[in-house]
Amino acid sequence: MIVELKNITKYYQNSGSAEKRIILDDLSLAIAKGESIAIVGPSGSGKSTLLNVISSLDTCNSGNMIFDAQDLSKLNEKELANFRNQNLGFVFQSHHLLPQLSLLENVLLPYLPEKDKTVKKEAEKRALDLLEFVGLSKQIHQRPGQMSGGECQRAAVVRALIHQPKLILADEPTGSLDKKSAEQLGDLLVDINEKQAVSLVVVTHSMDLAKKMKKIYQLEDGKLNLL
Ligand code: ADP
Ligand code: ADP
Repeated sequence: MIVELKNITKYYQNSGSAEKRIILDDLSLAIAKGESIAIVGPSGSGKSTLLNVISSLDTCNSGNMIFDAQDLSKLNEKELANFRNQNLGFVFQSHHLLPQLSLLENVLLPYLPEKDKTVKKEAEKRALDLLEFVGLSKQIHQRPGQMSGGECQRAAVVRALIHQPKLILADEPTGSLDKKSAEQLGDLLVDINEKQAVSLVVVTHSMDLAKKMKKIYQLEDGKLNLL
């Protein structure tokens, strides 16, 4: 298993109020290595909260989060930050590329301060290979402003992959794209899941995107149901 959530409960309590709003209710989830899953559910059902718990950006009130056999509840903040940097890649609804940098520079941003020439060269090779894989070889020196939304989002996927994470977490990755670009991005995510040996969790409102994943879970009333 790459991810095991065991009996996760997460609630919000407004200060001065005794009432708890339970968002995740004794929820368990196991994601196998190499698996791709979609999480769907109505707005406000807790999908982002669940994604934040999986990525250790948010804490839960009870339960355990195990990543690749490591219990994350034993790690402090600094160790968690290292854990995320090494193991996770994030894709968001908007691409968050820096407008003043080229595509290639955007993708290689984490390696700009790198002193080790071998490490840097290897990252450059990976960047070029991945940009080719997503069909952006010709645009590597262009800036995000010169590219379409779909192209920028594909570059954002490459940026999420550049440090060879074990798991990609994508929150509404097609939410800002037109139908055709959304379709392409969905296919790309499936492709990287299958060919780049990376597990995938996608939160989405789009059933078209969800259906491309190996499993679809619906989050409702704090519980996950396999569709
Ligand atoms: P979704 O991603 O499915 O739209 P969220 O995980 O963003 O749902 O939110 C689930 C619920 O938890 C929402 O009702 C939201 O208002 C509430 N919520 C999220 N974050 C907080 C917070 N920090 N404090 C209080 N309530 C919150
Ligand atoms: P999304 O659009 O992904 O569902 P939301 O708009 O629900 O996200 O939430 C955006 C951010 O605001 C999240 O980080 C969430 O934790 C926080 N948030 C949402 N609802 C509340 C709330 N009632 N009180 C405090 N923070 C909240």
